[in-house]
Amino acid sequence: MTGPPRQLLLASRNQHKLAEMRRILAEAGLSYDVLGLDELPGGLQVPDVVESGETFEANALLKSRAVAAATGLPAVADDSGLAVDALNGMPGIFSARWSGRHGDDAANLRLVLGQLADVPDERLGARFVCAASVSRPDGESRTVIGEMTGSLVREPRGSNGFGYDPIFLPSGLAQTSAQLSAAEKDAISHRGRALAALVPLLRDLLG
Ligand code: IMP
Repeated sequence: MTGPPRQLLLASRNQHKLAEMRRILAEAGLSYDVLGLDELPGGLQVPDVVESGETFEANALLKSRAVAAATGLPAVADDSGLAVDALNGMPGIFSARWSGRHGDDAANLRLVLGQLADVPDERLGARFVCAASVSRPDGESRTVIGEMTGSLVREPRGSNGFGYDPIFLPSGLAQTSAQLSAAEKDAISHRGRALAALVPLLRDLLG
């Protein structure tokens, strides 16, 4: 007899991330009931986790460990950003607040373009990076990295996506990631790749 699906928390309030996670787990044949932070079972609370790590992996791990320990449920967390070659990998873990204000996508993007004004076109290589981690309440964890390589364009193009998508040209494509449909982007994105790579580790860690 099979019981109800086991619960798995995703340390996010982003409905798009939740939908993507559910789709990837279902495709892999894993039956988890994936809950976001806005859907915590009654009485459970999670602390606000300061992303104080030096790397994407460290920040993802901080979040998944804290949420799993606070709730007693296995938890998945991710941390992502844009790494620009000519900026030595920055904005990196500071991507969401590069201009000084958290989540100001337009200002972040303008600042990066300004910093690259004198950099020749052939040195505009960049990549999106996503670290995803899964933790058990006892702290045992696994972490993976997914990447989407590409280059930057100097004029924003497209209105899909978010963040730096309008200036990011994925390798081999003529459209920015803001000109791709959600499904097209998910199929090649750093986040999609990291979550897909997490599936065998989830199986290994949670059974
Ligand atoms: P978070 O991991 O969801 O907190 O994202 C960190 C920041 O990285 C976002 O605020 C964006 O600026 C940037 N970022 C991460 N993933 C993407 C993406 O797929 N497209 C555009 N920007 C992204």
